[in-house]
Amino acid sequence: MNEIQNRRRARRDTAAARWQPDGDMPAAPAFELTRVEDYEPHIGAEAVDRILRKAELLDDLHVVHINSTYYGGGVAEILSSLSLLANAAGLRTGWRVIQGRPDFFSITKKMHNALQGGDINLSDLKREIYEEVVYENAVRLHLDHDVVFVHDPQPLPLIKYFRKKSPWFWRCHVDLSHPHPELWAYLAGFIERYDAVILSLPEYAQPLGVPQRFIMPAIDPFSSTNRPLDDAEIDDRLAHYDIPDDLPLVVQVSRFDTWKDPQGVIDAFRIARREVDCTLVLVGNVATDDPEGQEVFERLCASAEDRIRILSVQDSALVNALQRRAAVVLQKSIREGFGLTVTEAMWKGTPVIGGNVGGIRHQIENGVTGYLVDGVEQAAARIVHLLRHPDLRTRMGEKARRSVAGRFLLTRLMEEQMDLIGSVESRFHLRGTAF
Ligand code: UDP
Repeated sequence: MNEIQNRRRARRDTAAARWQPDGDMPAAPAFELTRVEDYEPHIGAEAVDRILRKAELLDDLHVVHINSTYYGGGVAEILSSLSLLANAAGLRTGWRVIQGRPDFFSITKKMHNALQGGDINLSDLKREIYEEVVYENAVRLHLDHDVVFVHDPQPLPLIKYFRKKSPWFWRCHVDLSHPHPELWAYLAGFIERYDAVILSLPEYAQPLGVPQRFIMPAIDPFSSTNRPLDDAEIDDRLAHYDIPDDLPLVVQVSRFDTWKDPQGVIDAFRIARREVDCTLVLVGNVATDDPEGQEVFERLCASAEDRIRILSVQDSALVNALQRRAAVVLQKSIREGFGLTVTEAMWKGTPVIGGNVGGIRHQIENGVTGYLVDGVEQAAARIVHLLRHPDLRTRMGEKARRSVAGRFLLTRLMEEQMDLIGSVESRFHLRGTAF
């Protein structure tokens, strides 16, 4: 065994010891965590070693991520994998979810919409409910971590209620290309208290007095949403929901949210179906911090028919199966902070037709790894074209998968976050030694 392997094994053993939530547990847990080493076939041994070395340098820090839902939506998807991967590498990382009443989440969803360019009536009552619920969460959180990441607008004001000794980062995942000016001015009062803001793309940068960093999201290839599935497993999931696959499947997977334009998907499908036989499956879930989802779902149900299936379920194995079995995946968003569903489908070698907005533009190279479209008619034309050209689908899908392997796997995100922590470390004397 060479020296690198020895070092790696030693690290793995240390990390394994940390996986025990309680040192006195009578038996070792029967479960295994994904480790950075498992990414070696995708990112190479050198990258694995480099990332583990960086994690080792930070292994006496305690990091926490705070968001507002445990499932539903990309942030929860990232945090559930990232927090485990970091712990497995020895970087102690917690994940806390704030709680809120329905009126709180109704307000924060309005804020989410307004950050993406919608309108909002920002009344004093809304501000009061927003800040009060976050204050109550602050009381319960007992944060004494070395590094704090706060995700999206819901928990943003938390920083106001802590005597800040450590670096706090506000990580905003939404499409900030057209934020509502009055709302932005109000939120900036909280944002400016942070040490840095992390946005998904440079074009989301705002006039702020704090540094802005850009980190694109990423997927976990080992999660139940993305792990390899064989044909029998895919058949089983589709049969479970009575989804026919006798005709090519056109699929969109998204929270039921008007920014994802599910109605536009149905309209595009109806136009395409005049020329090619196919089945549309719209699968969505309703995140606990998104009170509008149920209403959007119910409105769409009026369009359901034999060849237009609309399902509201939280089943990541179904998402995985559909993204794999689909002839074409759509993500026809009107605004999209990043769009993990695009990454997920591309990773599975399925060509994606995506709205020409936000993060989708950074993922799809138009005509090479998928198509970018500007409206219903264009989407319909691309569906027809892809369904008529299976070889093109295969070629595009292969290129799509390669591009995800190189740019959008979770290890890249973890490394960028560690670099960010390292860059502020000496300023905060997190450990007294330089990174
Ligand atoms: N997702 C899911 N079930 C659904 C719809 C979405 O598990 O019915 C997952 C999806 O696989 C992806 C995430 O939720 O991992 C959505 O992330 P994305 O960035 O596409 O959009 P967001 O919901 O964060 O706006």
